[in-house]
Amino acid sequence: MAVLCSIVEALKKRLQSIKLNVRRVRPCTRLTSYTMIKTLLFTLSFILLHGFLIQAQVPVLEPLKVSQIRGINVYGKPVDNQTRCIHWHSELDIIAIKFKCCDKYYPCFSCHEEEADHNHQVWPKSEFDQKAILCGVCGNELGINEYMNSNNSCPHCQAKFNPGCSKHYHLYFETEPKKED
Ligand SMILES: [Zn+2]
Ligand SMILES: [Zn+2]
Ligand SMILES: [Zn+2]
Repeated sequence: MAVLCSIVEALKKRLQSIKLNVRRVRPCTRLTSYTMIKTLLFTLSFILLHGFLIQAQVPVLEPLKVSQIRGINVYGKPVDNQTRCIHWHSELDIIAIKFKCCDKYYPCFSCHEEEADHNHQVWPKSEFDQKAILCGVCGNELGINEYMNSNNSCPHCQAKFNPGCSKHYHLYFETEPKKED
């Protein structure tokens, strides 16, 4: 009987210790999840703050009221005096194109679209000898053919042009033989 009793007592103690253990574990898990939430919040705020800082580092591009290169006006939304605009402003974006429709220099097609009150016209092939490209670095005007054969650098000042512009020739210059209606 005494042996049985002692076994039961031992079992009780064992059970109690297990319960105690469980009790001991619970606050621990609570603490862990609390720390996790804290860490999560910290990470989140860090990401948000970092995003804000990255955004803050990107300069807000305000178009200039007047942009002139050697006395030639550049219309649209230029951001400097080398023909960069709010749409295209990499190191290499240094030409403006004179539009056939209004005889005005714009840094890009979007500048004309957003500012001009008329549809654009492209230069016909027969007028490719016309000076319609303005180098934003030296202010010299290039003929369309001259520009197309320039190998993407200014023949006057050797400044490098954006080779990607050739993808948009069709917006400014006649690129296909005119279709007959
Ligand atoms: Zn125009
Ligand atoms: Zn533009
Ligand atoms: Zn030049």
